[in-house]
Amino acid sequence: MIGFGQEIFCPQLAQGFIFKVIIRTYVEMSRLSAVGELLEDDIPLAAHSTVFLLTQSYGLQYKWFHNQIRPFGQQIALQCSKCLALRSLQVQFSADGKSSELKCRLCKATSREIECDGEYVWPKHSMKVGVAYKPLWGEVEF
Ligand SMILES: [Zn+2]
Repeated sequence: MIGFGQEIFCPQLAQGFIFKVIIRTYVEMSRLSAVGELLEDDIPLAAHSTVFLLTQSYGLQYKWFHNQIRPFGQQIALQCSKCLALRSLQVQFSADGKSSELKCRLCKATSREIECDGEYVWPKHSMKVGVAYKPLWGEVEF
């Protein structure tokens, strides 16, 4: 079963993704756990919602991240809370890359610290943009 975590979900964004999952799984006979790869190619859906892959033997939750607009998969404000400028917040990562904070490039106010969620498995190929997953139960073979 595939589920979506967005509270106000836009089903039009999932149509192509569902079609690709069906083709990949039932025509190409790939493992269902390849859903994460398909989600990396479907940025509109990945940016819109977390995706759940729930089977009898394992469960996974996928979320999309981008180092400047969704650090560690968490949405950031579009507006500085101090000077109210739009799209002025910049993400600055700590030296170890495990946390970040938002800093307004106009008024220099820092507004929020975001920690790396250790429950997620982050892709080794990139920490700039991609899809991370969190095991919910069971053992998964990728
Ligand atoms: Zn500001």
